[in-house]
Amino acid sequence: MSQSITTPPTVWFVGAGPGAPDLITVRGSQLLASAGAILYTGSLVADTVLQWAAPECEIADSKSMDLAAVTDWLLTRAQCHTTVVRLQTGDPTLYGVTAELTRPLDAAGIAVKLIPGVSSAMAAAAVAGECLTLPEITQSVILTRFSERTPMPETESLRSLAAHGCTLCIFLSIDRIEQVVEELTAAGWAATAPVVVVYKATWPEERIVRAPLAEIAAACRAAGIERQAMILVSPTLGVRQQSQLSTSKLYDSTFPRRFRNK
Ligand code: SAH
Repeated sequence: MSQSITTPPTVWFVGAGPGAPDLITVRGSQLLASAGAILYTGSLVADTVLQWAAPECEIADSKSMDLAAVTDWLLTRAQCHTTVVRLQTGDPTLYGVTAELTRPLDAAGIAVKLIPGVSSAMAAAAVAGECLTLPEITQSVILTRFSERTPMPETESLRSLAAHGCTLCIFLSIDRIEQVVEELTAAGWAATAPVVVVYKATWPEERIVRAPLAEIAAACRAAGIERQAMILVSPTLGVRQQSQLSTSKLYDSTFPRRFRNK
């Protein structure tokens, strides 16, 4: 149903979160409720998140659309609705085509805004009960992928990034898990290094596979995990089960903090 156009239309690129409908942000769900039209990525976004949309909202799945069709859909809906939502999986700034989609909207003078979402990297760590950083173990997280059809920039090969030894959240690569293991091994990761793979984090079908690096590929194959999975590699994995755990200065009573007297 058309909304009366009293304010200029805006196309909102909203992060849907990793899957569970209550993991969209409050702001994101409010935008869904006020949207006149929503275009969502049906191949990745759980349609349960559409429960926040108004009953009269026009909803379409972009699964079978190409980039031009998506842009065209958003442009035409922005002509009759003040609030149009492009709903993207996880966080819209990561591994989406947000920049390609926003350019034609910018060129047409349509306002574009982005709303962050819970990325699958964070969701995978949370459902596995893992932390991605740990004092004195690693304080850096690399979000990356294995090069496949989308080539990696020369300085960002998985092998060179993995050589840092910090946490890696590897997107879009589960179907190349064997090559991922090869690259990590070549970068110096031990065969016993812990790896966690999370399939469809926060979906009802969620599965968590834990194995040492040398066994993770076989474990994923045995579990039938071939897509929509996050590969977490980190020296922090499994530390909750270890007795020797270094503690953070943040809660150290001898460490002076601005908001704590002692
Ligand atoms: N923007 C998204 C990533 C899109 S790329 C985000 O921030 O999460 C798609 C890849 O993300 C998938 O191949 C998979 O590696 C990962 N992914 C997306 N949803 C996931 C989920 N619920 N569980 C595990 N991995 C997921």
